[in-house]
Amino acid sequence: MTFTIPESAADIELSQIVQRQRDFFLSGATREIAYRLKQLEKLREAVVRLEPELLAALRSDLNKPETESYALEIGPVLSEISFASRRVRKWAKPKRVRTPITHFGSSSRVRYEPLGTSLIIGPWNYPVQLILIPTIAALAAGNTVVLKPSEMAPATSAMLARLVRETFSPEAVALAEGGAETSQALLQLPFDHIFYTGNATVGRIIMEAAAKRLIPVTLELGGKSPCIVHEDANIELAARRITFGKLANAGQTCVAPDYLLVHERVKTKLIEAIGQVIESFYGADPIAHLNYGRIVNARHFHRVAAYLKDGNVVYGGRSDESSLKIAPTLLADVAPDAPVMREEIFGPILPIITYGNIDDVFAIVAANEKPLALYVFSENKKFQDEIIGRIPFGGGCINDAVIHLGTPYLPFGGIGPSGMGNYHGEYGFRTFSHCKAVLKQSNRFDLPFRYPGSKLGPKII
Ligand code: NAD
Repeated sequence: MTFTIPESAADIELSQIVQRQRDFFLSGATREIAYRLKQLEKLREAVVRLEPELLAALRSDLNKPETESYALEIGPVLSEISFASRRVRKWAKPKRVRTPITHFGSSSRVRYEPLGTSLIIGPWNYPVQLILIPTIAALAAGNTVVLKPSEMAPATSAMLARLVRETFSPEAVALAEGGAETSQALLQLPFDHIFYTGNATVGRIIMEAAAKRLIPVTLELGGKSPCIVHEDANIELAARRITFGKLANAGQTCVAPDYLLVHERVKTKLIEAIGQVIESFYGADPIAHLNYGRIVNARHFHRVAAYLKDGNVVYGGRSDESSLKIAPTLLADVAPDAPVMREEIFGPILPIITYGNIDDVFAIVAANEKPLALYVFSENKKFQDEIIGRIPFGGGCINDAVIHLGTPYLPFGGIGPSGMGNYHGEYGFRTFSHCKAVLKQSNRFDLPFRYPGSKLGPKII
């Protein structure tokens, strides 16, 4: 593949780094399992060593409380490293598969081989784990990696740059700080895979740039994830789990319940229960609470605050521009075509729509694109199965919210406009691998059937 060297000095440096990574990959060094394990171990040591600085950076960028940062950023990274390290040898081993009788004498294997040099572009909302977990998958699969963290979490971006600089040789892992212009420069370079997490508008830009070079992409996007609470649900438990999922990082979570679809008989009870849970988490004035997250910047603060007028505030409703905080808010009487029901909220506002029967649920969910996540709270297995089976969505939970992304045994990813491809655990390893198919033929005999002229072969008319 040919590519033009970009003009600016910084871009030349980026292209040189990518070229060095490509040369290093071609040397074969990254294919060794011992090399991969060593990279994962170096990453683990660095995350443990720099944990206090990473926690401070997350506090500075998003006012993330340390316990939440540990539970949802550092902890998942460390457990993903352990999970991958213990299994990568098995994942990478060629696997024998069956061969049909028509191919008598031969054997077949699939080999998961590294793709080459990968680009990982991350967002600001979980800026540590959404850069490092794909990195673990890429390294486990034997790739070299260039990382581009989000400029909107600048303290974390700087810490990740330090972590990479102090830990890896640039041939193995490099990091480019910067905004859209840095991504744009990187998108001109000859990567073998691009893994992007962020909004769908930029997802389209990434995919378009990748299409020009036929570079495969994984897109981890967002959307409006419904949370359905049926009349037979355990309301107190549902309230606690929904509130946890919605208010972690002040609602700035790609899989947060975006809106509630509540059976009309339990609406009042659920609103009361969620109100009580919010108070038990953050007191009567969450904005003043030290551990209640803030909105990432003024632009997003104004975008989210504007949704407050899209319905009747039945709980919360306050906002404070000086601290960029918006109180947890429940909105009722929301019109289906209001912006809050058309756009991904990505903030601590929860619209509540009621339904009378399951067909209403299907119709309301279908009015938006296929969501990244879906949650259903019900004691009725038939209802659960109908919701889970008939609505397309990336992944989700029955009787819980958000926690499906915390297990390495489940793939994490969207469907259609909420994303393509997936990762976590072995799924991540496979995302950064090429599944090479190899058939090995025997030379001990040669069955004549396939050859023209063979009496037993196919007749040519
Ligand atoms: P963001 O603004 O930080 O953008 C993501 C990345 O794209 C950044 O690194 C940024 O520099 C880069 N970028 C921005 N403009 C670009 C351009 N024109 N060209 C190339 N690159 C560009 O983050 P965001 O998009 O605001 O993140 C929030 C969105 O991400 C939400 O929609 C959310 O649902 C989604 N999200 C998805 C997941 C997931 O795992 N599926 C996780 C987190 C967030």
